[in-house]
Amino acid sequence: MAGMTTVFTDQDCTRVGYARSILESAGIACFIQNENTQTLGVSLLGYSHTPILDPALCVVDETRVEEARTLLQQHFGIEAGNTEWVCPSCKESNPASFELCWNCQAAKPQ
Ligand SMILES: [Zn+2]
Repeated sequence: MAGMTTVFTDQDCTRVGYARSILESAGIACFIQNENTQTLGVSLLGYSHTPILDPALCVVDETRVEEARTLLQQHFGIEAGNTEWVCPSCKESNPASFELCWNCQAAKPQ
């Protein structure tokens, strides 16, 4: 699978489609993986969330991956101070807004 990098993924196909339109308008070649498998996955596996089947936006040209990520961060505000953090004590991941680990109450690392 060389020459293809996932730059955005979301449970919501609409958001992934919007992300694609952002990149396409910037002239970055990209495509969506799993666009048609999500409904199938849900019906086969019940209503549990299956991240592996989330639609994923992939950039073909590796030299433009960073540019694509920057564009998407600007539009969605993702990863800009809004990333999950991993507890150094118990290794659970926590939402960015949590100041203490939900699992063991360890302080968020700076
Ligand atoms: Zn913890």
